[in-house]
Amino acid sequence: MLRKMKTDKEKIIKHYEELLEYVEECNRFHVFNYYDSEYVETIKQKLKEMKAKENYDEIPVAACKHCHSLHIIEDEDSNNVCMKCGSVNDIIIYETIYSVPGHEKFKK
Ligand SMILES: [Zn+2]
Repeated sequence: MLRKMKTDKEKIIKHYEELLEYVEECNRFHVFNYYDSEYVETIKQKLKEMKAKENYDEIPVAACKHCHSLHIIEDEDSNNVCMKCGSVNDIIIYETIYSVPGHEKFKK
């Protein structure tokens, strides 16, 4: 499940990159912009946002439902195992790390 979240995001980024490449290529072959420059700019902006989030703490995190530990490991069978209390597949996805109980104080 954790792996899936990451893959989905990579897919979206890849999609935007290909889209951007395509519209820029189209515009190159037309005297007038075939695609609105505002549209191209929106794609660029979106791509930038998505990539920036990679480096931020503002990505969803999985925490253990019982002990709120973030130390969750995905085993070979795609089970999410808490390394602290050992619970299996009892995780909650939080929007950011700061939403996890006990982690609010780390917010800059
Ligand atoms: Zn736990």
